[in-house]
Amino acid sequence: MTPEPDTDLLDKVINLAKRRGFIFASAEIYGGFRSTYDYGPLGVNMLRNVKQAWWRSMVQLRDDVVGLDAAILGPPAVWAASGHLATFTDPLVDCRQCHERWREDKIDGVCPNCGGTEFTEARAFNLMFKTQAGPVEGEGATAYLRPETAQGMFTNFLNVLTTSRRRPPFGIAQVGKSFRNEITPQNFVFRTREFEQMEMEFFVAPDEADTWYRYWIQNRYEWYVDLGIGADRLRLHEHAQQDLSHYSRGTTDIEFRYPWGWDELEGVANRGDYDLTQHAHASGAALEYFDAQAGVRYTPYVIEPAAGATRAMMAFLLAAYAEDEVEGDQRTVLRLDWRLSPYQVAVLPLSKKPELEGVSREILSALRPWFMCDFDVTQSIGRRYRRQDEIGTPYCVTVDFASLDDRAVTVRDRDTTSQVRVPIGELVEELRRRMSPT
Ligand code: ATP
Repeated sequence: MTPEPDTDLLDKVINLAKRRGFIFASAEIYGGFRSTYDYGPLGVNMLRNVKQAWWRSMVQLRDDVVGLDAAILGPPAVWAASGHLATFTDPLVDCRQCHERWREDKIDGVCPNCGGTEFTEARAFNLMFKTQAGPVEGEGATAYLRPETAQGMFTNFLNVLTTSRRRPPFGIAQVGKSFRNEITPQNFVFRTREFEQMEMEFFVAPDEADTWYRYWIQNRYEWYVDLGIGADRLRLHEHAQQDLSHYSRGTTDIEFRYPWGWDELEGVANRGDYDLTQHAHASGAALEYFDAQAGVRYTPYVIEPAAGATRAMMAFLLAAYAEDEVEGDQRTVLRLDWRLSPYQVAVLPLSKKPELEGVSREILSALRPWFMCDFDVTQSIGRRYRRQDEIGTPYCVTVDFASLDDRAVTVRDRDTTSQVRVPIGELVEELRRRMSPT
């Protein structure tokens, strides 16, 4: 049976994230800054793991995708050609009663602040952050922070094509920050003004576009399942023709069941030849591919799986959060896939006695080249297990007084809480066997 969403779940995860150092409100000592967040010692490990898992799946394990890291600042010409200057807008309305501003399509005609139902006419509000590049003000100095990473792949299409000796079908992947001046950022890191994206533009012959579009929807869905999000928390939502963005010939969202209901996790779109054609017209560059074998020149179509790294991290946290009972004690446990956990192993000497700490430090040094490790000597062993469970550490290695004689340690499994004795000399091998990437 599918458990109903826990209405407290969001609060519990936000709380845990703050208490344990995953995610803090930005500039908190100054009262915070408008829905911006900082990733703490555990959060930064986990966010890096999310991005690494994506990079591994999209680039490392494939021979048809290469990477890119493009600039965040860009000239207006890029955003004029892409359509963002004209159309990257949300409908903004003011409540006539309390004067709060809202995104019209998100409020169902009722002000979430005061319950008012009278609003001003909606006006198009452009979501891009505008700034100045260089010491001179004025139009010539205008620059924009990118609202998506995708345009870097289009403007570098020829650079990558010629330097990487690829031919369609091939893709360019990028992970990095994007910025949108969201009217109503909300739900923790689900929608923020500064966030991180993981996007890939896959260039294909036009007659293969639909096949690849289906392929990438399936591939991306399976990525989330493989990393531990149950299929009961995921679904696909194909956009109706009239709801498509200006560039899209087909879009399917991979949706996640958040505590507030189903909402977008990732979008997979068939962008047709829109982007390359627009940039070719505006820049004068021939953004085409010449297929020498067939003797034809064409503008590739683009299939784009566009995910949020920060949003995905939140979904992984929500899906992993659990409360259960171990030997009569309540515990909170993050059942994170080991590839995402902030630490894979915690080394726990049973007591602070120097001889135990010495062996424990030796073990730590042997494990560290392979795993992100924590080391904890304070409080009872039971408390320390709970602390590691709560942050999702899959394995604890406990060093006790017997370890000094038998040169063996206890390995405890987070999910089953089962414990086995493993010789110190075989520990690295044993843990690598349990945590080996596929
Ligand atoms: P929405 O309609 O919810 O504003 P969108 O459809 O415009 O989002 P895309 O442009 O498709 O979003 O962006 C691709 C992905 O980037 C999203 O699926 C999401 O994971 C992430 N993303 C987009 N905007 C934000 C944001 N403001 N904060 C966090 N992640 C975001």
